[in-house]
Amino acid sequence: MLVDQHLHLERGPYTPENYPDSWLDLYLERAATAGVARLGVVEHGYRFLEARGLLPGAWAEDRCRYRLDAYLGFVERVRQRRLPVSCGIEMDYIAGAEEEIRRFLTRYPWDFVLGSVHFVDGVGVDLEADAQLRRQMGQETLWRRYFALSRAAIASGLFDVLTHPDLPKIFGERPPFALDTEYRLTAQALAAADMAIECNTAGLRKPVGDIYPHRAYLRAACAAGVPVSLGSDAHEPRDVGAGFDAAVDLLLESGYREAVHYIGRRRIASSLGSGRQSRGERGEAHPPTA
Ligand SMILES: [Zn+2]
Ligand SMILES: [Zn+2]
Repeated sequence: MLVDQHLHLERGPYTPENYPDSWLDLYLERAATAGVARLGVVEHGYRFLEARGLLPGAWAEDRCRYRLDAYLGFVERVRQRRLPVSCGIEMDYIAGAEEEIRRFLTRYPWDFVLGSVHFVDGVGVDLEADAQLRRQMGQETLWRRYFALSRAAIASGLFDVLTHPDLPKIFGERPPFALDTEYRLTAQALAAADMAIECNTAGLRKPVGDIYPHRAYLRAACAAGVPVSLGSDAHEPRDVGAGFDAAVDLLLESGYREAVHYIGRRRIASSLGSGRQSRGERGEAHPPTA
């Protein structure tokens, strides 16, 4: 059974006070045709007034408009409808703000928490508007700091999954040095923290045209015994399960045989099947193994 455990609703027709269920229903319809048996919805923590200031800067401040109560009301309705949907949150790791992030996270019964590094020392890793700032920083510093922050995020113990783990490649620029040591050290840190790495297909829809992370990173993670979760990072219904054929092939080549998802912060593993051929019937759920 395939689970798309990284979906955003934020481009939907909701207001700061109301999340219409009909928008989620479009994601579920798309999942059914894409052979995805279960969804994991997240919203970005920085959007919520209750997390204001955790992610510093004007970019986050501009987007901080939504009431967490409205999202939690939606989460409650999802649970009442007994939908195959886990509800979580995608939180930025901010060095030095660990205790504030923990306080925000522990107030709510999330199914899972995705940990992300979108900013390196105030510079947006994936923001086109920050291209000049990234040039000033230099690719070497950007990548080194990105991995250092990733490992600090892992060590914080705040998160279940490290998302889009080599995001700095988003615009297609090659890292100026071999990343194998960074991959290995980060994979070891994930294993030590009992955290999962995410295989995220959004990169296929970005200039780099490649899944996050690089296959060498996935191989290092698999060799270290790190579980993997799968996500499209869809922001619209049409992208649910996008690129999953390529992602499953990549995971199988990297040594993985199952992917994990979370319910109530509990990790559940499901078979990836045995390849493209068997995925012709992947809409059929395999019984999850613990
Ligand atoms: Zn993200
Ligand atoms: Zn995301």
